[in-house]
Amino acid sequence: MNIQSGLGAGFNAESYDALVVGCGYAGSVCARRLAEACGMKVAILERRDHIAGNAYDYEDEAGILIHKYGPHIYHTTNERVNQFLSRFTEWTDYQHKVLANIHGTLMPVPFNHTSLKLAFGEEKGERLYQKLVATFGENKKVPIMELREKNDPELVEVADYVFENVFLHYTMKQWGQTPDQIDPSITGRVPVFVGDDDRYFPGAPFQGMPGEGYTKLFEHMLDHDLINVFVDVDARDILKVTSGAVLVNGKPYSGEVIYTGPLDELFGLDLGALPYRTLDMVFETLDVDKFQPVGTVNYTTSEDFTRITEFKNMTGQVVPGKTTIMKEYSKAYTPGSGETPYYAILEDENTELYKKYRERVSGALNFHCVGRLAEYRYYDMDGVVASALDLSDELIAQRN
Ligand code: FAD
Ligand code: UDP
Repeated sequence: MNIQSGLGAGFNAESYDALVVGCGYAGSVCARRLAEACGMKVAILERRDHIAGNAYDYEDEAGILIHKYGPHIYHTTNERVNQFLSRFTEWTDYQHKVLANIHGTLMPVPFNHTSLKLAFGEEKGERLYQKLVATFGENKKVPIMELREKNDPELVEVADYVFENVFLHYTMKQWGQTPDQIDPSITGRVPVFVGDDDRYFPGAPFQGMPGEGYTKLFEHMLDHDLINVFVDVDARDILKVTSGAVLVNGKPYSGEVIYTGPLDELFGLDLGALPYRTLDMVFETLDVDKFQPVGTVNYTTSEDFTRITEFKNMTGQVVPGKTTIMKEYSKAYTPGSGETPYYAILEDENTELYKKYRERVSGALNFHCVGRLAEYRYYDMDGVVASALDLSDELIAQRN
């Protein structure tokens, strides 16, 4: 991999077959595939000073591998995505577990058989569990909003408990809105689980952590003679999209452009800003071996932060006498403030605004939007990789 800071005076866009904006999964997957499937020469422009986008990890001062932009756990049901990423890393067999701190008691989330017994006591918890099994079947995922629609008094009791103690306050902290006000697909990511599996992603056949970390995975993916990475470069300084053409340094550019940043930024937000939630992440290194029993504890009834992650619990790294934890505080994103737009806010009005920006670029046939930002989607890593594989399939088919 060839990586340099800044474009330098000698940069000539015309010498590249493709320009990729952003060096996260979306950009890096496309770059690798275009380089190896079509022999295209690719330049990746990344405005941060590092590769790997929001999946970036590095060792902090205590030597602990931390995730700079929030805890990232790999999980997927998509075999093609898994095969593609597995070319660049081995995976540990880490199975992510989350506990909710509910008024001081730690209970598994997704809320499951064990959680029911902790919340309602052994006997009643078991009775309620059998009711859930009779209603939904065993090993079923039931979104809280679906559970709330049931009229049976015992199911109402469970739904009210879980809604109030797992979802309401956490969702208010995370989104500034109640679970009824946000898109149901969001709370549906963490359904009630009618079963004993206490993993956060029950049913994902592929899950784990990259053996040497995410940044190393990206280093391997980008390690190709035809890929050059330029960090500390904001593509907006050289790139403009007009109706029907992409301009680089004021001249029409005929190669492919893969854009993975926020679409509104490309136009100076002139139709209005796309709303996002951002996070303040507060890291602390503590002089103890272990801080909490699992990778992440969600604070669902107390505290201003949503969750605490302890990285060693996820990476399996052994560093005696020290551990680094991180608290996440969610808030509205202010464009132009230097904050990171982490979560698109899935509301009709915002999707409509996104579509207007998307129409603006639709005439430029060599300009392609992909990724969590550029598609304004709530994608996990695997979803982004799948989308990038699809886009690169199309571009490869056009060339062959
Ligand atoms: P990004 O990783 O955001 O990459 C886009 C890149 O484009 C950025 O590096 C940005 O700097 C760059 N860029 C933007 N504009 C420009 C410009 N004008 N010029 C140059 N560069 C530019 N997924 C999971 O599967 N498991 C998890 O456990 C998980 N945890 C998460 C936790 C948090 C707190 C968050 C926010 C996300 C999490 N995700 C998780 C989702 C995951 O981070 C994303 O799906 C994935 O990283 C998105 O990849 P991307 O390439 O689309 O975007
Ligand atoms: N959620 C909640 N309580 C929890 C876990 C999740 O209310 O203990 C809700 C909350 O609205 C959150 C959403 O479910 O934003 C999705 O959770 P997930 O853990 O998937 O969010 P992410 O890891 O993407 O931030």
